[in-house]
Amino acid sequence: MLSPDQRSCDSERMPVQCPKCSSEDLDRDRDSADSPGIPIICNACGHRFTREPRIVCPRCGSVEVDESSVEGWAYDDPEEGREHPETAAWSYVDRLLYRCERCRHDWQAVASVRPYTPKPAGPA
Ligand SMILES: [Zn+2]
Ligand SMILES: [Zn+2]
Repeated sequence: MLSPDQRSCDSERMPVQCPKCSSEDLDRDRDSADSPGIPIICNACGHRFTREPRIVCPRCGSVEVDESSVEGWAYDDPEEGREHPETAAWSYVDRLLYRCERCRHDWQAVASVRPYTPKPAGPA
């Protein structure tokens, strides 16, 4: 039998809630990029707030983590991309690379995915 306390590490990954309406329908607020922390906007009530970054090294638990972002792309369906590379749908994928300054462990996370929309074809 697991006591509730033993599952407490799962709560690290609990989604943030809007402090105003408790909605979990939240987005990164891209309009206020220069504020410290992570700017969040609530899709339910429009409230803006910031969340302290809580990046913790999964190996040693250190909070001294370097963060850098990398832009790239990926096929929506990797199998289709392999078989039909010209027609397969793909998206821009922004990744965040993390490196722990204490134990040098590095890992990455997907920050955002923007679907690629082809421009209307010009005159053939
Ligand atoms: Zn809200
Ligand atoms: Zn570490």
